[in-house]
Amino acid sequence: RRAEFAAMRDLPSVTIDGQRIELMVNAGLREDAQALDLVGADGIGLFRTEFQFLVSATLPQREKQQRLYRDVLDAAGDRPVVFRTVDIGGDKALPYMARDAEEELEDNPAMGWRALRLALDRDGLMKAQARALLEAAAGKVLHVMFPMVSEPWEYEQARALVEHQREWLVAQKKKLPVAVRYGAMLEVPALAEVLDLLLPRLDFLSIGTNDLTQFLFAADRAHPRLAERYDWLSIAILRFLDRVVRACEDHEVPVGVCGEMGGRTLEAMALIGLGVRRLSITPASVGPVKAMIRTVDAAELRRFMRDLLDKGVTDIRSALVDWAGEHAI
Ligand code: PEP
Ligand code: MG
Repeated sequence: RRAEFAAMRDLPSVTIDGQRIELMVNAGLREDAQALDLVGADGIGLFRTEFQFLVSATLPQREKQQRLYRDVLDAAGDRPVVFRTVDIGGDKALPYMARDAEEELEDNPAMGWRALRLALDRDGLMKAQARALLEAAAGKVLHVMFPMVSEPWEYEQARALVEHQREWLVAQKKKLPVAVRYGAMLEVPALAEVLDLLLPRLDFLSIGTNDLTQFLFAADRAHPRLAERYDWLSIAILRFLDRVVRACEDHEVPVGVCGEMGGRTLEAMALIGLGVRRLSITPASVGPVKAMIRTVDAAELRRFMRDLLDKGVTDIRSALVDWAGEHAI
């Protein structure tokens, strides 16, 4: 099968009824960009910029950040790279970042002072990162995405901060990106209830199913006893995702999934059945997921998923396995 997947690399990611599915990869290190060519991906759908912060003994300076982002953009060539601003704090604490005593005390770090919450409060970090990203993407399109957006104002504030840096660079007559596209991650369930307010302001939305499922089920994503307990193919998650995807379609905002869910073949099939047309997954999953894509009829699959959700079928996993069997997937 390994040879089969290698051969898959150069084949288009298209369903049998002609729906193009973008297959991108999740990355975090300079070396990860090489995986793009190796597996034949369409770009990097999630670049976790906090990796550089986590592996450094001291806070990476702006120039160092900029070098990393430039190298990654160079390796990607014409393919898009979605840079997620730092998702640190909580359990991804930086030893060199001073915290007040009360900030240290977090009973629930995943729901604590992390990601955009921390970045907006300590905006020096965010400003430096925004400058590094804008400078690295000079002459190219820059895609910036904010993690853990819980309310639209957080997105607005983060976007304004990047725009402010852009204006500063304009005033300095520096070379700029040809365009900046802004996106938010949907991983906090509350955001789904106000998507109509946020979508008109977004260039794209990316669903982070790792954190989203943890918050939907109130189940720690790293807890070994809970790891197998809740299914990504549970009707609760799929109905939730269905509403989000349809809201994005109504507002004509591209929506993708960048959590681990999208890298599993059956789960990816369910997502395509909900109308998702962009997946960002681990490089090793690109071959198997593409092989699946090339054997499904997206329109038929969508009708099948619709029916399962409307009828309230609880064992969606089995239903999808049967459907895949009947359709020789
Ligand atoms: C997610 O939460 O699904 C996600 C993609 O981000 P991370 O795994 O880095 O939290
Ligand atoms: Mg997350």
